[in-house]
Amino acid sequence: MTFELPKLPYALDALEPHISAATVKVHYGKHHRAYVDKANQLIAGTEFERRSLEDVIAATAPQKKYQSLFNNAAQAWNHGFYWNSMSPDAGGEPDGAIADRLATDFKSFGAFRDAFKAAAVDHFGSGWAWLVLDGGRLKITATANADTPIAHGKTALLAMDLWEHAYYLDYQNQRPSYVENFLDKLANWDFAGRNYALAIERKVA
Ligand code: FE
Repeated sequence: MTFELPKLPYALDALEPHISAATVKVHYGKHHRAYVDKANQLIAGTEFERRSLEDVIAATAPQKKYQSLFNNAAQAWNHGFYWNSMSPDAGGEPDGAIADRLATDFKSFGAFRDAFKAAAVDHFGSGWAWLVLDGGRLKITATANADTPIAHGKTALLAMDLWEHAYYLDYQNQRPSYVENFLDKLANWDFAGRNYALAIERKVA
């Protein structure tokens, strides 16, 4: 089994004007593809062949000797999750069970939005901002470089790529504007809500 580049869930220009087709083209077609290709090169002929991306991430996370495989497998997974974390004509406030839970765990949606924005803007260097389910509570976390909450026993609900390759063509150094547009125009709460419902279901089962 080799890992495959998942299909982009929308057209290259679907996120315009917030994220340009030029950005998505290079981010998906070059960066994401390179992580998948490199992960495949690194598993060839090893014990990791025929294991899922999630399994490889879990198995390699604590081990320095597998740092490169972890980085590429985690980035392959993170990017697949990121594309699904955005949708054209999305963003703003969610509804349903995840909305109730955000209001409970963050006091209000506005407080969640402020906290997510602060975490994403303040994160130093490359990495990711996440909404996760951790110990039964919704939390915001930022991870450095390729690191991913699924390597730390947390359930990812929504991901935002903070690497400059995600926004530099469109926003240059204005990460705060990218973060605001992600939250207000792109965040796919249907996807996050489905991830939340699945996690709750699994916990109960
Ligand atoms: Fe990226």
